[in-house]
Amino acid sequence: MFKVEKASRIKELPPYLFVTIDKLKEEQIAKGVDIIDFSIGDPDIPTPSNIIDRMKYAIEDRKNHRYPSYEGMIEFRMAASKWYKRRFNVDLDPKEEVLSLIGSKEGIAHISLAFVSPGDIALVPDPAYPVYSIGAKFAGGEPFFLPLLKENKFLPDLKKIPEPIARKAKLIFLNYPNNPTASVANREFFEELIEFAVKYNIIVCHDAPYTEIYYDGATPISFLEIKGAKDVGIEFHSLSKTYNMAGWRVGFAVGNADVLKGLGGIKTNVDSGLFQAIQEAGIEALEGDQSSVDKMRKIYQQRRDVLMDGLMEIGLRPEIPKASFYIWAPVPNGHTSASFSTHLLNRAGIVTTPGNGFGDYGEGYIRMALTVSKDRIIEGIERLKDVGI
Ligand SMILES: *Cc1c(COP(=O)(O)O)cnc(C)c1O
Repeated sequence: MFKVEKASRIKELPPYLFVTIDKLKEEQIAKGVDIIDFSIGDPDIPTPSNIIDRMKYAIEDRKNHRYPSYEGMIEFRMAASKWYKRRFNVDLDPKEEVLSLIGSKEGIAHISLAFVSPGDIALVPDPAYPVYSIGAKFAGGEPFFLPLLKENKFLPDLKKIPEPIARKAKLIFLNYPNNPTASVANREFFEELIEFAVKYNIIVCHDAPYTEIYYDGATPISFLEIKGAKDVGIEFHSLSKTYNMAGWRVGFAVGNADVLKGLGGIKTNVDSGLFQAIQEAGIEALEGDQSSVDKMRKIYQQRRDVLMDGLMEIGLRPEIPKASFYIWAPVPNGHTSASFSTHLLNRAGIVTTPGNGFGDYGEGYIRMALTVSKDRIIEGIERLKDVGI
Protein backbone atom coordinates (compact mmCIF):
# COMPACT_ATOMS: atom_id res chain seq x y z
CA MET A 1 0.00 0.00 0.00
CA PHE A 2 1.21 3.48 -0.85
CA LYS A 3 2.06 5.44 2.23
CA VAL A 4 2.25 9.22 2.51
CA GLU A 5 5.10 9.78 4.93
CA LYS A 6 5.64 13.29 6.24
CA ALA A 7 9.09 14.81 6.62
CA SER A 8 10.50 15.07 10.12
CA ARG A 9 10.24 18.87 10.05
CA ILE A 10 6.48 18.52 9.74
CA LYS A 11 6.23 15.71 12.25
CA GLU A 12 8.26 17.73 14.72
CA LEU A 13 6.04 20.80 14.51
CA PRO A 14 4.76 21.74 17.95
CA PRO A 15 1.14 20.70 18.49
CA TYR A 16 -1.32 23.34 17.39
CA LEU A 17 -2.38 24.75 20.71
CA PHE A 18 -5.61 26.31 19.62
CA VAL A 19 -7.18 22.99 18.64
CA THR A 20 -9.21 22.69 21.84
CA ILE A 21 -10.59 26.20 21.72
CA ASP A 22 -11.40 25.85 18.00
CA LYS A 23 -13.31 22.65 18.72
CA LEU A 24 -15.23 24.19 21.58
CA LYS A 25 -16.04 27.17 19.38
CA GLU A 26 -17.42 24.87 16.66
CA GLU A 27 -19.54 23.12 19.30
CA GLN A 28 -21.02 26.39 20.49
CA ILE A 29 -21.72 27.54 16.95
CA ALA A 30 -23.40 24.19 16.17
CA LYS A 31 -25.60 24.74 19.24
CA GLY A 32 -26.67 28.05 17.75
CA VAL A 33 -24.79 30.23 20.26
CA ASP A 34 -24.21 33.79 19.06
CA ILE A 35 -20.41 33.86 19.30
CA ILE A 36 -18.43 37.08 19.84
CA ASP A 37 -14.97 36.32 18.51
CA PHE A 38 -12.08 38.23 20.07
CA SER A 39 -9.53 35.71 18.82
CA ILE A 40 -9.01 37.07 15.31
CA GLY A 41 -5.83 39.02 14.55
CA ASP A 42 -7.19 40.09 11.19
CA PRO A 43 -8.59 43.61 10.59
CA ASP A 44 -12.37 43.68 10.12
CA ILE A 45 -12.33 47.18 8.57
CA PRO A 46 -12.37 47.15 4.73
CA THR A 47 -9.45 48.23 2.55
CA PRO A 48 -9.74 52.01 1.78
CA SER A 49 -11.55 52.70 -1.50
CA ASN A 50 -8.69 54.66 -3.13
CA ILE A 51 -6.58 51.49 -2.91
CA ILE A 52 -9.33 49.30 -4.35
CA ASP A 53 -9.85 51.78 -7.22
CA ARG A 54 -6.15 51.72 -8.04
CA MET A 55 -6.25 47.92 -8.11
CA LYS A 56 -9.23 47.92 -10.50
CA TYR A 57 -7.26 50.11 -12.84
CA ALA A 58 -3.98 48.20 -12.48
CA ILE A 59 -5.53 44.83 -13.11
CA GLU A 60 -6.58 45.93 -16.63
CA ASP A 61 -3.00 46.75 -17.52
CA ARG A 62 -1.57 43.88 -19.56
CA LYS A 63 2.00 44.49 -18.47
CA ASN A 64 0.91 43.51 -14.97
CA HIS A 65 -0.17 40.07 -16.17
CA ARG A 66 3.39 38.91 -16.68
CA TYR A 67 5.93 37.73 -14.14
CA PRO A 68 6.93 40.57 -11.85
CA SER A 69 10.58 41.29 -11.00
CA TYR A 70 11.90 39.31 -8.03
CA GLU A 71 12.87 42.24 -5.84
CA GLY A 72 9.68 44.17 -6.58
CA MET A 73 8.91 47.11 -8.90
CA ILE A 74 11.31 49.99 -8.32
CA GLU A 75 8.27 52.31 -7.99
CA PHE A 76 6.94 50.20 -5.12
CA ARG A 77 10.32 50.12 -3.42
CA MET A 78 10.61 53.90 -3.88
CA ALA A 79 7.18 54.34 -2.30
CA ALA A 80 8.26 52.22 0.68
CA SER A 81 11.49 54.19 0.99
CA LYS A 82 9.68 57.54 0.89
CA TRP A 83 7.14 56.29 3.42
CA TYR A 84 9.97 55.37 5.82
CA LYS A 85 11.48 58.82 5.33
CA ARG A 86 8.18 60.59 6.03
CA ARG A 87 7.17 58.43 8.94
CA PHE A 88 10.48 57.65 10.66
CA ASN A 89 12.99 60.01 9.02
CA VAL A 90 14.96 56.93 7.91
CA ASP A 91 16.86 57.08 4.61
CA LEU A 92 16.66 53.93 2.49
CA ASP A 93 18.10 53.25 -0.93
CA PRO A 94 15.13 51.77 -2.80
CA LYS A 95 17.44 49.66 -4.98
CA GLU A 96 19.46 47.98 -2.24
CA GLU A 97 17.65 48.52 1.01
CA VAL A 98 14.04 47.62 0.20
CA LEU A 99 12.71 44.20 -0.81
CA SER A 100 9.05 43.52 -1.58
CA LEU A 101 7.40 40.55 0.14
CA ILE A 102 4.27 38.50 -0.45
CA GLY A 103 3.09 39.62 2.98
CA SER A 104 5.67 40.01 5.72
CA LYS A 105 5.01 36.47 7.01
CA GLU A 106 6.56 35.18 3.81
CA GLY A 107 9.83 37.02 4.50
CA ILE A 108 9.82 36.08 8.19
CA ALA A 109 9.35 32.41 7.32
CA HIS A 110 12.14 32.49 4.71
CA ILE A 111 14.82 34.59 6.43
CA SER A 112 16.17 31.67 8.49
CA LEU A 113 16.82 29.67 5.31
CA ALA A 114 19.28 32.37 4.32
CA PHE A 115 21.18 32.68 7.59
CA VAL A 116 20.58 29.69 9.85
CA SER A 117 22.43 26.45 9.16
CA PRO A 118 21.55 23.14 10.84
CA GLY A 119 22.58 23.34 14.49
CA ASP A 120 22.64 27.15 14.61
CA ILE A 121 20.55 29.06 17.11
CA ALA A 122 17.88 31.66 16.48
CA LEU A 123 16.82 33.83 19.42
CA VAL A 124 13.04 34.04 19.60
CA PRO A 125 10.77 35.85 22.05
CA ASP A 126 8.22 33.92 24.11
CA PRO A 127 5.29 34.59 23.86
CA ALA A 128 5.43 35.38 20.11
CA TYR A 129 4.03 35.03 16.65
CA PRO A 130 4.81 31.34 15.95
CA VAL A 131 6.45 31.90 12.53
CA TYR A 132 9.79 33.04 14.02
CA SER A 133 10.58 29.72 15.69
CA ILE A 134 8.99 27.57 13.00
CA GLY A 135 10.99 29.30 10.25
CA ALA A 136 14.17 28.71 12.23
CA LYS A 137 13.29 25.04 12.73
CA PHE A 138 12.48 24.54 9.06
CA ALA A 139 16.04 25.72 8.35
CA GLY A 140 17.39 23.10 10.77
CA GLY A 141 18.09 25.65 13.49
CA GLU A 142 17.22 25.60 17.16
CA PRO A 143 15.11 28.36 18.63
CA PHE A 144 16.31 29.65 22.00
CA PHE A 145 13.42 31.36 23.73
CA LEU A 146 13.68 34.76 25.40
CA PRO A 147 10.96 35.23 28.03
CA LEU A 148 8.90 38.40 27.76
CA LEU A 149 7.92 39.23 31.31
CA LYS A 150 5.56 41.85 32.64
CA GLU A 151 8.13 43.13 35.15
CA ASN A 152 10.44 43.83 32.21
CA LYS A 153 7.70 45.59 30.19
CA PHE A 154 7.57 42.50 27.94
CA LEU A 155 11.03 43.25 26.55
CA PRO A 156 13.58 40.40 26.54
CA ASP A 157 16.44 40.67 29.04
CA LEU A 158 19.43 40.40 26.71
CA LYS A 159 21.84 40.22 29.65
CA LYS A 160 20.29 36.91 30.69
CA ILE A 161 21.16 35.17 27.41
CA PRO A 162 23.96 32.70 28.22
CA GLU A 163 27.26 33.55 26.51
CA PRO A 164 27.59 30.19 24.62
CA ILE A 165 24.04 30.61 23.27
CA ALA A 166 24.72 34.17 22.11
CA ARG A 167 27.88 32.95 20.37
CA LYS A 168 25.97 30.28 18.45
CA ALA A 169 23.05 32.54 17.55
CA LYS A 170 22.72 33.82 13.98
CA LEU A 171 19.43 35.72 14.19
CA ILE A 172 17.34 37.45 16.80
CA PHE A 173 13.63 38.01 16.14
CA LEU A 174 11.77 40.83 17.84
CA ASN A 175 8.39 42.47 17.35
CA TYR A 176 7.36 45.90 18.63
CA PRO A 177 4.61 47.05 18.94
CA ASN A 178 4.17 43.51 20.14
CA ASN A 179 1.72 40.79 19.33
CA PRO A 180 0.42 39.39 21.69
CA THR A 181 1.46 41.59 24.66
CA ALA A 182 0.71 45.02 23.07
CA SER A 183 3.94 46.40 24.53
CA VAL A 184 6.18 48.91 22.73
CA ALA A 185 9.96 49.17 22.66
CA ASN A 186 11.84 52.32 23.54
CA ARG A 187 15.04 53.79 22.15
CA GLU A 188 17.17 52.51 25.04
CA PHE A 189 16.12 48.94 24.39
CA PHE A 190 16.94 49.17 20.69
CA GLU A 191 20.33 50.72 21.52
CA GLU A 192 21.12 47.85 23.86
CA LEU A 193 19.94 45.42 21.18
CA ILE A 194 22.30 46.90 18.59
CA GLU A 195 25.22 46.70 21.01
CA PHE A 196 24.37 43.05 21.71
CA ALA A 197 24.02 42.27 17.99
CA VAL A 198 27.39 43.83 17.19
CA LYS A 199 29.13 42.03 20.07
CA TYR A 200 27.94 38.57 19.01
CA ASN A 201 27.46 39.17 15.30
CA ILE A 202 23.75 38.40 15.35
CA ILE A 203 21.41 39.66 12.63
CA VAL A 204 18.41 41.56 14.02
CA CYS A 205 15.06 40.79 12.38
CA HIS A 206 12.55 43.29 13.68
CA ASP A 207 8.93 42.60 12.78
CA ALA A 208 6.98 45.86 12.81
CA PRO A 209 3.49 45.48 11.31
CA TYR A 210 1.79 47.46 14.12
CA THR A 211 3.70 50.76 14.08
CA GLU A 212 0.63 52.63 12.74
CA ILE A 213 -1.86 51.22 15.23
CA TYR A 214 -1.26 53.29 18.32
CA TYR A 215 -3.28 55.18 20.91
CA ASP A 216 -3.35 58.59 22.54
CA GLY A 217 -1.05 59.97 19.81
CA ALA A 218 2.00 58.05 21.10
CA THR A 219 3.69 57.06 17.83
CA PRO A 220 5.89 53.95 18.05
CA ILE A 221 9.45 54.15 16.72
CA SER A 222 11.16 52.06 14.06
CA PHE A 223 14.21 49.97 14.93
CA LEU A 224 15.91 51.60 11.93
CA GLU A 225 15.70 55.04 13.55
CA ILE A 226 18.45 54.02 15.94
CA LYS A 227 22.06 54.71 15.04
CA GLY A 228 23.81 51.57 13.81
CA ALA A 229 20.59 49.61 13.20
CA LYS A 230 21.17 49.29 9.48
CA ASP A 231 24.58 47.73 10.14
CA VAL A 232 23.05 44.82 12.02
CA GLY A 233 19.59 44.13 10.74
CA ILE A 234 16.36 44.58 8.88
CA GLU A 235 12.78 45.49 9.67
CA PHE A 236 9.74 43.69 8.29
CA HIS A 237 6.80 45.86 7.41
CA SER A 238 3.32 45.03 6.26
CA LEU A 239 0.38 46.74 4.62
CA SER A 240 -1.98 44.17 6.19
CA LYS A 241 -2.70 46.07 9.39
CA THR A 242 -2.01 49.71 8.43
CA TYR A 243 -4.23 49.63 5.34
CA ASN A 244 -6.49 46.68 6.16
CA MET A 245 -4.96 44.67 3.32
CA ALA A 246 -4.37 41.34 5.07
CA GLY A 247 -5.84 39.34 2.19
CA TRP A 248 -3.86 41.15 -0.49
CA ARG A 249 -0.50 39.75 0.67
CA VAL A 250 1.79 42.73 0.45
CA GLY A 251 4.67 43.72 2.66
CA PHE A 252 8.34 44.60 2.48
CA ALA A 253 11.62 44.30 4.31
CA VAL A 254 14.00 47.24 4.74
CA GLY A 255 17.46 47.80 6.13
CA ASN A 256 20.82 46.06 5.73
CA ALA A 257 21.51 45.47 2.02
CA ASP A 258 23.48 42.24 2.54
CA VAL A 259 20.81 40.73 4.74
CA LEU A 260 18.18 41.62 2.13
CA LYS A 261 20.35 40.06 -0.59
CA GLY A 262 20.42 36.84 1.43
CA LEU A 263 16.66 36.82 1.82
CA GLY A 264 16.24 37.74 -1.84
CA GLY A 265 18.47 34.82 -2.80
CA ILE A 266 16.07 32.41 -1.11
CA LYS A 267 13.04 34.11 -2.62
CA THR A 268 14.28 33.98 -6.22
CA ASN A 269 14.38 30.21 -5.81
CA VAL A 270 11.00 29.86 -4.13
CA ASP A 271 8.56 32.46 -5.48
CA SER A 272 8.33 34.70 -8.50
CA GLY A 273 7.55 37.98 -6.85
CA LEU A 274 4.50 39.97 -5.97
CA PHE A 275 1.65 40.54 -8.47
CA GLN A 276 2.38 43.95 -9.98
CA ALA A 277 -1.22 45.12 -9.79
CA ILE A 278 -1.01 44.59 -6.02
CA GLN A 279 2.26 46.52 -5.94
CA GLU A 280 0.51 49.41 -7.72
CA ALA A 281 -2.27 49.27 -5.14
CA GLY A 282 0.47 49.20 -2.49
CA ILE A 283 1.97 52.38 -3.96
CA GLU A 284 -1.45 54.04 -3.69
CA ALA A 285 -1.68 52.86 -0.06
CA LEU A 286 1.72 54.27 0.87
CA GLU A 287 1.53 57.50 -1.14
CA GLY A 288 -2.18 58.29 -1.44
CA ASP A 289 -4.59 59.89 1.00
CA GLN A 290 -3.70 58.78 4.54
CA SER A 291 -6.93 59.93 6.20
CA SER A 292 -8.19 56.34 6.34
CA VAL A 293 -5.31 55.47 8.68
CA ASP A 294 -6.39 58.18 11.09
CA LYS A 295 -9.99 56.98 10.92
CA MET A 296 -8.85 53.42 11.59
CA ARG A 297 -6.88 54.52 14.64
CA LYS A 298 -9.94 56.32 15.99
CA ILE A 299 -12.03 53.19 15.57
CA TYR A 300 -9.50 51.02 17.42
CA GLN A 301 -9.08 53.65 20.12
CA GLN A 302 -12.84 53.72 20.77
CA ARG A 303 -12.96 49.94 20.89
CA ARG A 304 -9.95 49.78 23.18
CA ASP A 305 -11.46 52.29 25.58
CA VAL A 306 -14.83 50.53 25.69
CA LEU A 307 -13.28 47.09 26.19
CA MET A 308 -10.72 48.27 28.76
CA ASP A 309 -13.42 50.04 30.82
CA GLY A 310 -15.55 46.90 30.74
CA LEU A 311 -12.70 44.58 31.70
CA MET A 312 -11.67 46.84 34.59
CA GLU A 313 -15.26 46.89 35.79
CA ILE A 314 -15.51 43.12 35.93
CA GLY A 315 -12.15 42.89 37.71
CA LEU A 316 -9.76 41.79 34.96
CA ARG A 317 -6.93 44.27 35.07
CA PRO A 318 -4.95 44.18 31.85
CA GLU A 319 -2.35 46.80 31.12
CA ILE A 320 -3.71 49.45 28.81
CA PRO A 321 -2.30 48.84 25.33
CA LYS A 322 -0.24 51.70 23.89
CA ALA A 323 -0.21 50.16 20.42
CA SER A 324 -1.34 47.14 18.33
CA PHE A 325 -4.92 45.93 18.40
CA TYR A 326 -4.58 43.45 21.24
CA ILE A 327 -5.35 43.38 24.93
CA TRP A 328 -3.17 40.96 26.91
CA ALA A 329 -5.17 40.15 30.01
CA PRO A 330 -3.95 38.16 33.01
CA VAL A 331 -6.42 35.40 33.93
CA PRO A 332 -8.05 35.40 37.39
CA ASN A 333 -6.48 33.38 40.21
CA GLY A 334 -7.19 29.69 40.00
CA HIS A 335 -7.45 29.70 36.21
CA THR A 336 -5.03 28.72 33.45
CA SER A 337 -5.10 30.36 30.03
CA ALA A 338 -7.02 27.38 28.66
CA SER A 339 -9.49 27.04 31.53
CA PHE A 340 -10.34 30.75 31.50
CA SER A 341 -10.67 30.85 27.75
CA THR A 342 -12.96 27.81 27.90
CA HIS A 343 -14.98 29.39 30.73
CA LEU A 344 -15.58 32.54 28.67
CA LEU A 345 -16.57 30.53 25.63
CA ASN A 346 -18.91 28.06 27.29
CA ARG A 347 -20.53 30.51 29.67
CA ALA A 348 -20.62 33.72 27.63
CA GLY A 349 -20.07 32.70 23.99
CA ILE A 350 -16.91 34.82 23.97
CA VAL A 351 -13.90 33.54 22.07
CA THR A 352 -10.44 34.62 23.25
CA THR A 353 -6.99 33.24 22.48
CA PRO A 354 -5.31 31.33 25.33
CA GLY A 355 -1.90 32.93 25.90
CA ASN A 356 0.00 29.65 26.10
CA GLY A 357 -0.64 29.21 22.37
CA PHE A 358 2.07 31.85 21.87
CA GLY A 359 4.60 30.02 24.05
CA ASP A 360 5.13 28.84 27.63
CA TYR A 361 5.49 32.38 28.95
CA GLY A 362 2.05 33.23 27.59
CA GLU A 363 0.53 30.95 30.23
CA GLY A 364 -1.62 32.93 32.64
CA TYR A 365 -2.90 35.31 29.96
CA ILE A 366 -5.57 35.53 27.31
CA ARG A 367 -5.38 37.72 24.21
CA MET A 368 -8.35 39.73 23.02
CA ALA A 369 -8.23 41.37 19.58
CA LEU A 370 -9.97 44.67 18.89
CA THR A 371 -11.19 43.41 15.52
CA VAL A 372 -14.78 43.35 16.79
CA SER A 373 -17.26 46.24 16.36
CA LYS A 374 -17.98 48.55 19.30
CA ASP A 375 -21.57 47.31 19.55
CA ARG A 376 -20.43 43.72 19.81
CA ILE A 377 -17.80 44.68 22.40
CA ILE A 378 -20.55 46.31 24.49
CA GLU A 379 -22.67 43.16 24.12
CA GLY A 380 -19.64 41.06 25.14
CA ILE A 381 -19.09 43.13 28.27
CA GLU A 382 -22.75 42.78 29.26
CA ARG A 383 -22.39 39.03 29.00
CA LEU A 384 -19.17 39.06 31.05
CA LYS A 385 -20.92 41.06 33.77
CA ASP A 386 -23.71 38.49 33.90
CA VAL A 387 -21.41 35.50 33.96
CA GLY A 388 -18.65 36.92 36.17
CA ILE A 389 -15.09 35.81 36.14
C1 LIG B 1 -0.20 40.33 11.37
C2 LIG B 1 1.23 40.07 11.68
C3 LIG B 1 2.19 40.07 10.67
C4 LIG B 1 1.82 40.47 9.27
O1 LIG B 1 1.65 39.47 8.44
P1 LIG B 1 1.46 39.69 6.88
O2 LIG B 1 2.05 38.42 6.36
O3 LIG B 1 2.20 40.89 6.42
O4 LIG B 1 -0.01 39.78 6.66
C5 LIG B 1 3.52 39.87 11.01
N1 LIG B 1 3.88 39.70 12.29
C6 LIG B 1 2.99 39.73 13.29
C7 LIG B 1 3.48 39.63 14.68
C8 LIG B 1 1.64 39.90 13.01
O5 LIG B 1 0.75 39.91 14.02
